Amino acid sequence: MNDSGAVQNIAVVGAGAAGTLTAMRLLRRAAEERDTSCRIWLIDPGATGRGLAFGTDAPHHLLNVPAAGMSAHRDDPEHFLRWLGHRWGPLDFVPRGVYGRYLADSLEAAPRIDGAPGLVRVHDRVVGVAHEPERGEGALSLRLGSGQSLRADAAVLALGNFPSDQSWAPPSLRTSPLFLADPGSAAASGACPSTATCCSSAPA
Ligand SMILES: Cc1cc2nc3c(=O)[nH]c(=O)nc-3n(C[C@H](O)[C@H](O)[C@H](O)COP(=O)(O)OP(=O)(O)OC[C@H]3O[C@@H](n4cnc5c(N)ncnc54)[C@H](O)[C@@H]3O)c2cc1C
Repeated sequence: MNDSGAVQNIAVVGAGAAGTLTAMRLLRRAAEERDTSCRIWLIDPGATGRGLAFGTDAPHHLLNVPAAGMSAHRDDPEHFLRWLGHRWGPLDFVPRGVYGRYLADSLEAAPRIDGAPGLVRVHDRVVGVAHEPERGEGALSLRLGSGQSLRADAAVLALGNFPSDQSWAPPSLRTSPLFLADPGSAAASGACPSTATCCSSAPA
């Protein structure tokens, strides 16, 4: 509990892997410290845990790390394996969408303190952030796509990777059907043709 007893509003912008894990850690810390002052706003128009990598439902889009290495809890390395049950083993490469569901479930299962503000999930996009020094040192105002605004005492920007710059590529390459301007999204959706013909938009 902070000295003033006031609610501390923490905005986590982006509910992909990083935002979901951050919200989970904040809830856990609040529960461990019996801190009833913390309200976490988790803001993302999409589904929880299902960002660029883990939003796919294609069964052949697999994690690049075996299941044994993918626990969301550093102090409980078998957490993901227990969540998976018997269908996959520690050395299996599990579909990425399954991992996205695991992240969402793990957040859902994070400890809450009765009567504490806890977690508020907002399905919207943040379109602007402004500092409001007159309300306090770190005070922020977040503008949402819906036109509403939200006041926070701190914000975590977990927005994922932005599409890479492609100005380095000559026009003849940029207009080629084999040129992938955004290899991350292409690989996430399975649109990457093959390693032999897939051109990254980053210079070698
Ligand atoms: C094809 C592919 C496969 C991968 N495979 C693996 C893997 O097997 N294992 C591994 O550990 N890592 C993998 N990665 C890396 C993986 O992307 C990162 O580990 C992790 O998912 C990044 O999480 P993130 O939260 O930063 O981004 P993301 O998971 O992409 O989440 C960003 C979120 O921010 C939201 N957002 C963006 N802007 C706003 C806004 N203005 N307002 C509100 N919300 C916003 C988006 O909607 C999105 O949900 C892979 C990456 C790719 C591209």
